[in-house]
Amino acid sequence: MKSFYFTKNYRKLLKGFSIRKYCSKNEDKRKTNVETIRNIGILAHIDAGKTTTTERMLFYSGTIRSMGEVHHGNTVTDYMEQERQRGITITSAAVSFPWRGSQINLIDTPGHIDFTMEVEQSLAVLDGAVVVLDASAGVEAQTLTVWRQAAGYRVPRMLYLNKMDRSDASVNVCLRSIRDKLQATPLQLHAPLQHEHRLIGLIDLVTLEEVVWTQGRGQNFTRRKLSEENDGKKWEDSVASHRELVDCLSSMDDRLAETIIQQESLDNLSSKEIEAAIRRCTTAMKGFPVLCGSSYKNIGVQTLMDAIVSYLPTPLQCNELYSCFGEELAARAFKVQHDDQRGVLTFLRLYSGEISRNQKIYNLARDKTEQTGSLYVALADEYKPVETVTAGNIAVVSSLKAAMTGDLITSTQAAANRAKSKLSSMLNDSSKVGELMLPSARQRLQAMEAETSREELAEVLLGIGTTVPEPVFVCSIEPPSAAFQSALETALAELQREDPSLRVSVDGDSGQMVLAGMGELHLEIIKERIIREYKIEVELGALQIAYRETLVGSARQTVSVDRKMAGARQFVKVEMSAKNVKGVSQDKVLRLAKSQDSAANLAHVRPRSLAAVERGVQSALQHGPKLGCPMVDTQVTLHWLEVGRGTSESIISSTVVQCLRKVFEEAESMLLEPVMSLEIVCPESHSARVLADLARRRADLHHVQLRNQHKVIECLAPLSELLGYSSTLRSLSSGLATFSMEFHSNRQMAPHDEEKAIRNVTGF
Ligand code: GDP
Ligand code: MG
Repeated sequence: MKSFYFTKNYRKLLKGFSIRKYCSKNEDKRKTNVETIRNIGILAHIDAGKTTTTERMLFYSGTIRSMGEVHHGNTVTDYMEQERQRGITITSAAVSFPWRGSQINLIDTPGHIDFTMEVEQSLAVLDGAVVVLDASAGVEAQTLTVWRQAAGYRVPRMLYLNKMDRSDASVNVCLRSIRDKLQATPLQLHAPLQHEHRLIGLIDLVTLEEVVWTQGRGQNFTRRKLSEENDGKKWEDSVASHRELVDCLSSMDDRLAETIIQQESLDNLSSKEIEAAIRRCTTAMKGFPVLCGSSYKNIGVQTLMDAIVSYLPTPLQCNELYSCFGEELAARAFKVQHDDQRGVLTFLRLYSGEISRNQKIYNLARDKTEQTGSLYVALADEYKPVETVTAGNIAVVSSLKAAMTGDLITSTQAAANRAKSKLSSMLNDSSKVGELMLPSARQRLQAMEAETSREELAEVLLGIGTTVPEPVFVCSIEPPSAAFQSALETALAELQREDPSLRVSVDGDSGQMVLAGMGELHLEIIKERIIREYKIEVELGALQIAYRETLVGSARQTVSVDRKMAGARQFVKVEMSAKNVKGVSQDKVLRLAKSQDSAANLAHVRPRSLAAVERGVQSALQHGPKLGCPMVDTQVTLHWLEVGRGTSESIISSTVVQCLRKVFEEAESMLLEPVMSLEIVCPESHSARVLADLARRRADLHHVQLRNQHKVIECLAPLSELLGYSSTLRSLSSGLATFSMEFHSNRQMAPHDEEKAIRNVTGF
């Protein structure tokens, strides 16, 4: 039954639009087609209604048949369980569905804070976003986080006030929290419409129409113009809000202001003119449309989709960076997923050009050429094979081996070089740099202390070699028996490509495999996936905090090695020093001493020997002297190097490691621990207990405020004190509090805490 429905729907989809859209070769047609595409994401605090809203959109667009269960009076838990199950199937990394002659590509952004890296990757490929608020709560902690991230990636946004059916929902409270917490200008386009205290629809403040949903699954709704004669107070209130909207728009949009001046009145504007102004303000991120609805009660979802098409940008807007590729293929991989039947699938957002089945592509980040296998587009929970996918769309490609999340892809290396040099000449205009800069690029530039050339800058702007956030948790992982060792290694290598924030390493001494990740849940999910998808019953060791070490002082040491091995003399003499340099960038970790003696000696060092020294430095930095944790903020200087003829490179590296071990011992190191920023929302009645508990967890309170009988607590706390915090908070607040946390920084520890941490890790 189910598959019948799906086939029927896909056939409809196919006929109506997909073939034309995905395979068009005709230039003009393609341009108009691109303009009908909206690549958007839905962002929300947990429980605001992202899943429910997404599902309704798929349903009303005719893409899935669903929702029966709600109306058959299933219990809430049943309903949620099914939601969750379906959530896994429909929320593949992207789904496409038609809406009134346009095509909406919905790109999934994971909701949990542990997956910030994935959220950021998907934000980077969005053209616009819908931020869902629970209208009874307003802006919540996670809303703020995703809002900031989306702002960093310059993604135009609109807000959807969901759950307007609840008696404690309030548009005004939401609008205030949008102004206060998000520091954003809301453009209120809807007001809720009630009948006998029940939500029945909304008032469109642009057209001054009332939109009423009739009972049932919400496919049917009626629109009626409000009038002074018929609607009395409703009319007055709506006109007042309408004027406020127009007033706000005209203060941000010169064209609308111009029209109003010419017409000498606010009231003669056509809806078209207002809509165009909303669109301009939204894409320029001067204002943010605010819509109302109740997805659960099937009210306001179609009007939300209309607004997505009307106000959020087309793929042709807001992506100037990629114009340097001209007509060549430019695509960004935003997700790598494993599919049981199709193998590794890479999701690509195309900015320019087109991609075909079995085509050669060049990956700029990995400097590799690869061949694509099959090509698909993702429709609901089905992949449809296609021959070509054109600019503006999302392509799903199989068989790519090197591509990782975040990589930039074009057709050939020559095309990549042309694009880079075109971009560097665009950067002659220094105001362009700021315009094209994204947050990850800014971070990297800050780390590159020295002058950067325009070519380097172009690479950074294109995000070639993006940075991955530092993991905060580590744990060992073990296969059920040695027979599974290589299968586990393969599984981990695949998972790492999907999710670069997962790190896998092997402990040099014990040979144990060690995972490092972004949170308890992150590593737990990795474990589940290995068991479920790879059928390997792995065990994880106890979760440990990913401490770092850094040097307290500085030191300088010389080590020489001179011995005969397999008949050949191996001779290395090396002199090195190290010191603490805050935020030293990866490529500046090893510097060469500039004194006259050193310079004269180092001038003769062969590049291969120097590379061996570099490998030694990298390996020495993996393990600090105190607890064997990775060293950060450490700069190493090479003062002297002599290498005997015929000495192997591995002897050079190991001598360097030996020398640096002595340097680090002498300079002494201290532990740094990850500190998280935390936002807790709890009922006032329980806040005293929560605050007292936070004090025991070495938390620094930053801000405590009252919001609707709830205390909102912002603080910084060491991660080591937050293990299992969610269950503690639940019991302290009788399940009424929520919290979110995010990595803040690595911090020096008090001597007493450091001792305790060392005891915890080493057992003595
Ligand atoms: P997500 O965590 O953002 O994906 O939120 P869900 O879609 O899973 O919804 C969380 C809870 O809120 C579920 O119990 C939904 O039934 C409920 N919910 C979603 N939309 C509405 C709504 O419009 N009104 C009400 N009253 N509840 C809703
Ligand atoms: Mg959900």
